[in-house]
Order: sequence, then C-alpha cells, then structure tokens
Amino acid sequence: MATSFPSDQFRMEQVADGNWAAVTRSGASASSNCGIVDLGYATLIFDTAHTPQAAHDLWTAARLGTGRDPSVVVNSHWHFDHTLGNSSFRGAKFFATATTRTLLLEHGSRYAMEVGEPEWVQGTMARNDRLAQETDPLVREPLLAELAARKELALVPRSELILVPDASFEGRHRFPGTKGVQVVEGGGHSESDSVLFVEETEVLFAGDLVTVQTHPELADGSLDRWVTTLERIERIGAKVIVPGHGPVGPPEACRELREYFAELQALADSDAPVSIPAEYAAWALPDRFPVNVARLRAARRSGESV
Ligand SMILES: [Zn+2]
Repeated sequence: MATSFPSDQFRMEQVADGNWAAVTRSGASASSNCGIVDLGYATLIFDTAHTPQAAHDLWTAARLGTGRDPSVVVNSHWHFDHTLGNSSFRGAKFFATATTRTLLLEHGSRYAMEVGEPEWVQGTMARNDRLAQETDPLVREPLLAELAARKELALVPRSELILVPDASFEGRHRFPGTKGVQVVEGGGHSESDSVLFVEETEVLFAGDLVTVQTHPELADGSLDRWVTTLERIERIGAKVIVPGHGPVGPPEACRELREYFAELQALADSDAPVSIPAEYAAWALPDRFPVNVARLRAARRSGESV
C-alpha cells in the first residue's frame, strides 16, 4: 500500500479510496506536495515535486498503491518545485494549460543552462552559509529543502532536466471513466494554475492555489485573481483539500487563506511596520511574508494592481 511505503521524501497519506496525498517531509528535496489518483483504468500523478530523485519515490508509491505504473501526469503550474520531477514519468501523457507549457519551456530552458554553472554553484554556497548562521527552524526548513534539491539536480543530465507536457487544455479537462476526475484552470498564484477535483471522493488537489499553515507565494501572482479563484474553489464543494504546501486540510483552508490575504492587503495599504500577525506566527515559509507585503506596496506606489 502506498500509505506504508517508506520514503524520506514524502509521507504518503490515503485521503480517500484511490486517492493519496504525498506530503513532503520537512527539509526533503521534494519541496512540495503531490497527489496520486486511481482513475480506475490508469494511474494519475498530480505534480511531480522538485527533483526526479524525489519523484521516483512518488512513482514507486503510485505503483504500489494502484498496482499500475503511473501513465497520466498533471502539472498544476510551471514552478520548478512542482515540475522538475517530470522526467521520472517519461512515457506518461502529460497535461497542463498552454500557458503553463509555454512558461515551463521558457523558464526551464534557461534554468537547465544555469544548473552546475559557476553562478549557480555560488548561489548554492550562499544558501549554505545562510543555513550555517540561521537558528530559526521555520527559516532553516526551506533552505535545507532547496539545498537537498540542488544536490540532486546537479546529478541530472542537463538534457533530462526539463520535460514539458505534451497535451494542453483550456479551462477544463475531464478524464474518461466513472470517477469524475477533472482538472480546472484557475489562476492567481502564478500566471496559470490548475486544480484537480475527484467528484467521487470530493477530494481536491489544489497545487499552490491553497497552502495550509504555510505562507503563500505571490511573486508571480495576482492577489485579486487569486482571491476570485479561491471563491471558485470553495464553490466546488470539496471535503478534503490537498495543498501544494503544508498538511492536508479541510474545505475551510480556502477561507482561511482569503482572510490571510485580506490582512496582508490591509498591512500593505498602511505604513505600519511589517511583522507577521500572531495567528500566522507558526506558519511555514515565513520569509515570504515581508516579500509579499513589499510586492503589494511596490504595486501601490506604481499604481498597478496585483
Ligand atoms: Zn508555485
């Protein structure tokens, strides 16, 4: 069973019949959560983590849990911590939006040329130095994960680093079968994000559109669009939400994130000093909070909307 599959990368959690959340372990190179869905006739993987090595554990867990080699992969968005494991599923049919395909090709081609080059190695050493001086476990955790990922990525042949999805969809794609599995395009975290909903089990795999007890990342996103997408996700009526980062959550995770964004926007609209509100003090990836505020304040100053 996938639930008992031992992995240093993921904690495999069966969230419903035929549905598993692969929740990344603290400091592991996987760096983000993935999903495994038994379509009844094929095995689907939702997102592939940060390295092919981590994704190999996902492949094995999917094989053990469903009795089949995974043959369908969905990339929720282009960010590397969700797509660089793609090559471990070579031969599968890959789905993503046309925008996600284009962005992964564009950013990935550039990144593949950088890995292992002097500047990239210097960046790795700078993170190492920062880790040596950092004592806050919440700040150390993503540094450890990034360093673990870089160590593995350096071993991957450059030509195999990026695997761009071969199939694209716009708006929505429904997979064949009786389980009602569909991937739906949203947006807001990145230029294009998708979620996967399983009607039969009412489980939603959210990618980075939902984070649980984890600060969200706004760098490539649009706050207005993200909030609208969260409202759409809430209307889907999922019972279980598998987020891109953090533990598996209840449907209320979407509302909690909207409330977080409202506080973030209020702080950005004020001139108050940036400090993380008490209710979010224990959330993972705290470095993102001041970056998010700075992005919103810069947008306010320049008159653009985020
Ligand atoms: Zn992301």
